Amino acid sequence: MGVKDTVVPPNTDCHHFILEDDSANLEKPYGSIFLSIPTVLDSSLAPEGHHILHIFTTSCIENWKGLSLKDYEEKKELVANKIISRLENKLFPGLKSSIVLKESSIVLKEVGTPKTHRRFLAQDNGTYGPIPHSIPKVLLGMPFNTTAIDGLYCVGDSCFPGQGVIAVAFSGIMCAHRVTADIGLEKRSPVLDAALLWLLGCLRKMA
Ligand SMILES: Cc1cc2nc3c(=O)[nH]c(=O)nc-3n(C[C@H](O)[C@H](O)[C@H](O)COP(=O)(O)OP(=O)(O)OC[C@H]3O[C@@H](n4cnc5c(N)ncnc54)[C@H](O)[C@@H]3O)c2cc1C
Repeated sequence: MGVKDTVVPPNTDCHHFILEDDSANLEKPYGSIFLSIPTVLDSSLAPEGHHILHIFTTSCIENWKGLSLKDYEEKKELVANKIISRLENKLFPGLKSSIVLKESSIVLKEVGTPKTHRRFLAQDNGTYGPIPHSIPKVLLGMPFNTTAIDGLYCVGDSCFPGQGVIAVAFSGIMCAHRVTADIGLEKRSPVLDAALLWLLGCLRKMA
């Protein structure tokens, strides 16, 4: 969302995690809210006098399936408004309706769902970035950079080490080293390589 900066008190932190009641609701749909305000670190990201509120919560794609376009749009509004009200109660009085300004502080609102992630990011089931739940493999169950097809590599948040900009950057660095070693531009260790590729082959067979 884009909001007027009057609603964000001075010295507000960039990142917030909101859990109003006990941790039993932590993993329930909409149970907790994550909020980032990048403009407190870099005001040039928004027009002067405004902040960006990047807000997200948990929800499964199943909750958004089988709806008509009208119902889908209405549900998006309903869920977003409830979350905005919770933020208004907890952190930003006047977010929706400022008594001082006599108008909403919100100047831009865009709502996404798991279906949005699936459509625009091609994420399986619209996930934020998949983490395998298989125990004991967990992260080791993810694809690494190499594939069973010679010369085909994969990289990004669906591969080890997983989601988030830092992990994705690391995945890219690992892949670059793998490719340069495979084409002979970087020194390689045949024994370690053979052991690693054998291990990855075993993990893929178990997947
Ligand atoms: C709402 C949200 C908030 C986030 N917040 C943070 C955060 O605060 N900090 C953090 O570290 N991480 C955050 N992340 C996670 C982070 O954005 C991702 O882990 C990271 O961007 C993944 O990078 P990637 O290159 O693997 O994939 P993406 O950034 O998803 O890029 C993949 C690209 O490939 C395109 N694509 C997919 N399929 C095809 C196809 N068949 N043909 C052509 N193009 C295709 C997609 O459109 C997309 O542009 C957030 C993610 C989401 C969804």
